[in-house]
Amino acid sequence: MFNLVEQAALGLSQAHLSDFQGRLVEHRIKRDLEQMVSAAKKSGITLTLASTFRDFERQSLIWNNKFNLIRPVFDINDNPVDMASLNDAEKCFAIMLFSAIPGASRHHFGTDMDVFDASKVADDYQLQLCQAEYSEHGPFCELSNWLANNAEKYGFFLPYKHFNGGVAKEPWHISHIERSEFYMNVHSEQLLVDALKQSNVAGWPTLVDQLDEIYPHFVTNITLAGS
Ligand SMILES: [Zn+2]
Repeated sequence: MFNLVEQAALGLSQAHLSDFQGRLVEHRIKRDLEQMVSAAKKSGITLTLASTFRDFERQSLIWNNKFNLIRPVFDINDNPVDMASLNDAEKCFAIMLFSAIPGASRHHFGTDMDVFDASKVADDYQLQLCQAEYSEHGPFCELSNWLANNAEKYGFFLPYKHFNGGVAKEPWHISHIERSEFYMNVHSEQLLVDALKQSNVAGWPTLVDQLDEIYPHFVTNITLAGS
């Protein structure tokens, strides 16, 4: 039903991936990633990958656990959301602030990753991926500034650098400019509808129903490279 590139864009294939430091990334970004990691090292930053490729199944598990109140959902101020009081549409919108719809996560591409600086914390540090860690007094403030000034030199950008009314600000999330664009160009609202209709994603009928509004707000609404 889906060709190979569409499968890659939806997180339904691993054929476009290969190993980088024990993690799966899109094979064509490896050189740029290697160069960025070693440049960061020279600036005293151990740029470490926390999360890279995630498949449709894994994203569904995260989504369904949040939808079904098994995993907490937080609002823009990091306060827990009372999910039990929300209808299906409201639940979906609450989740999408921090978690992508399965089939619409940039982590499916293998071109996107969450990073931290391993040299600033203990080996057993529990990474939260929250704003405080990456802001002024946090352990990854230096990494954050370094990425803002240097990521693009190595072909990467921060798609969630600013909150644009869709996905919350994610200073830890970097993306390979050229290769992520390749998969985004393959991705479409219709492709996502087709994937959701044959999935077990909780609330999928609501998502399909409201995708005209959701897609431009949460999928294509990113901070572009160079801004
Ligand atoms: Zn991420």
